[in-house]
Amino acid sequence: MENLITVKNLCRTYIVNSVSSNVLQNVNFELGKGEFVAIMGPSGSGKSTLLYTVSGMDRMTSGSVKFKGKNLEEMSEKELEKFRLHSMGFIFQQMYMMKKLSIFDNIVLPGYQAGLVSRKEINERAEELMRNLGIIEAAEHDINEVSGGQLQRACLCRALINRPEVLFADEPTGSLNSGAAGEVMNEIRKVNKNGTAVMMVTHSTKVAAESDRVIYLADGNIRGEMKFDDSGNSRDIHSRERKLSTWLMEQGW
Ligand code: ADP
Ligand code: MG
Repeated sequence: MENLITVKNLCRTYIVNSVSSNVLQNVNFELGKGEFVAIMGPSGSGKSTLLYTVSGMDRMTSGSVKFKGKNLEEMSEKELEKFRLHSMGFIFQQMYMMKKLSIFDNIVLPGYQAGLVSRKEINERAEELMRNLGIIEAAEHDINEVSGGQLQRACLCRALINRPEVLFADEPTGSLNSGAAGEVMNEIRKVNKNGTAVMMVTHSTKVAAESDRVIYLADGNIRGEMKFDDSGNSRDIHSRERKLSTWLMEQGW
C-alpha cells in the first residue's frame, strides 16, 4: 500500500510555567492511502496531540510529517491552511462551529471556501450527508438549538464536505447514544470504502473493531500495533472485538 502520511521521530513538548513535558516522544508511523487506523490508549497518553500535530493544526516540536510527499513542517501557515481545507477533514472535541451560522451554513462553509466544485454541488453534498446522518431536519437550526449528538454529526458532515483524502476524528462517537454512534460509524466506513483514509481516536473496542489497524499509545509513545487479518466481507466484528480486547489487555489497557 502506498503511504499517504509518513511520520518520523515526531516530538511535541509543552512548556507550562517553565516546566516542560514531552507529550509525544519519537513517534514513528505510516498511514497508507485509504487505510483506516484507530488510536487507543489511556487518557493523557497524547492521542489528541498526535492528531493535532499530524494534521498540522498544531506545530510539532521536532520530527517530520510527510503528507503526499510534502513536509508539513516546511509549510507556511497559509500553505498549511489551504492544504488542510482541500485534503483533510476534522472532527475534534472542540467543535469550532460558527455560532452565528445555521447548521447547514456551517457544513457548507469549508466547501465554499475551498471552491473546488460549484456551490450547487456543495449544497447537494451537504443535504446528502445530513440525510445519511439523520440530521436533515436540523439544517436551518442555530447551533445552540440542537443536541450535542446532532452537533457532533454536523461536524462529521462538515469534515466530509470537500471529500478529503484523510479524515481525522477525535472520539467521534464519544458523546453519542448507540443509534447515533451507529450512523456516524456507517458514514465513516462508507467514506473509507470510497478511498478516504481515516485516523481515529477512540476508547471503544466496538468502534475500533471497524478499523484496519489499531495503534496503542502510552506516555507519548507507540507501544504496539495490531492489524486485523480478516477484511472485506469476511470480517467478523464480534471476533475482532474479542481479539482487540485480549490484545489491549496485553498492552496494559
Ligand atoms: P489524550 O488525548 O490521550 O487524552 P492529550 O494529547 O490531550 O492526551 O494530552 C497529553 C498530555 O499533554 C496531557 O498530559 C495534557 O495535559 C498535555 N497537554 C495537552 N495539550 C496541552 C497544551 N496545549 N498545553 C500544555 N499541555 C498540554
Ligand atoms: Mg484526547
